[in-house]
Amino acid sequence: MIICEKCFCDTEIISVIKNKSVIGDCPLCKSKNVYLYDTEKFDDLSMMFDDLLSIYTPVSLLPQSFPKADTRLLKSELIYNWNIFNKKTEADVYNIITAICKEKYEYNAELFDQPVGIQELYDSDYLSKHSLLTTNSWEDFVEALKTRNRFHTHYVDLDLLERFCSYIRKPYKTGEVFYRCRISTEVGIPVTEMGAPPIDKTTDGRANARGIRCLYLGDTAETTIYETRAGAYDYVTVGKFQLKKDIIVVDLKKINQISPFIEGLDCLEYAINKEHLNKINDEMGKIMRRSDSPLDYVPTQYITDFVKSIIHDGNPEYAGIEYKSVMHNGGYNLALFDPDLFECIETEVYAIETIDYKKHIV
Ligand SMILES: [Zn+2]
Repeated sequence: MIICEKCFCDTEIISVIKNKSVIGDCPLCKSKNVYLYDTEKFDDLSMMFDDLLSIYTPVSLLPQSFPKADTRLLKSELIYNWNIFNKKTEADVYNIITAICKEKYEYNAELFDQPVGIQELYDSDYLSKHSLLTTNSWEDFVEALKTRNRFHTHYVDLDLLERFCSYIRKPYKTGEVFYRCRISTEVGIPVTEMGAPPIDKTTDGRANARGIRCLYLGDTAETTIYETRAGAYDYVTVGKFQLKKDIIVVDLKKINQISPFIEGLDCLEYAINKEHLNKINDEMGKIMRRSDSPLDYVPTQYITDFVKSIIHDGNPEYAGIEYKSVMHNGGYNLALFDPDLFECIETEVYAIETIDYKKHIV
């Protein structure tokens, strides 16, 4: 079977296909002039998929106690739980994986044709050693953090969290530009006052507790204007910020999209933590209302403080975290632990004309 780089969205797989240096048209997705991979000629992808598929057990071999509701066909599991294929139907995925893993399919067809499950998801011994939250749920962790112990909780396996962070590192080079917006007057705010507020003016935020300075920036002027939640007829000042030195941040937008094929990644450990990692992603992207308590920021503040505490060779490893914008679809924000890493180089004043309110009765 011939497949191509465009049939996938997993970066590790795409790079394996590109390395084969075969260019042509893809009979499956009809992309023209792309890198191709012939499953009859190469077996690199079969080795990669063998590893991932080995975490699954067909329903006929799962223990009686395994909840049947938590099993599903491999083709659906690969589509809905992993970010591997680019816009493929279940039938396409079935054809692709049985072609890639043809040997495995010959002696273990049940794996591809029967519902499958991950046995370790219900193995408390395994979970206590490999789950980010040991045997607790994300809700248990949030509750404990809010109401029982804020600074010394034992709910999170921090070594594991550090390891997951290392898979979503994102470097930025000196000169990179981001934006910050503040509600102002028609006159605007001078560049010298566009940075993070002084310590006594800090409030609780997604990535900082009150009293801790943090510089929040957005990828575009538009994202920051949305994030400010300016009202109609307000004036806002948008500052353009430039990075003063090379940095590495943790890209939390990607925390639930780590490639299972990264070298050294334990697929099984990653798979059983996917649910927790999804929760971290949801929590970072949760909409906060004016009526919400600052306590609702505590879980993300905990994660951010931990990222900030990671040290490598005596120096902080990460300069900040990046997360998707709740207010502006497709946009993202950067929270910097050291507000002096960026310099505001110019500002522009905007008048907000209209706001498009969409609503529903609750
Ligand atoms: Zn293709």
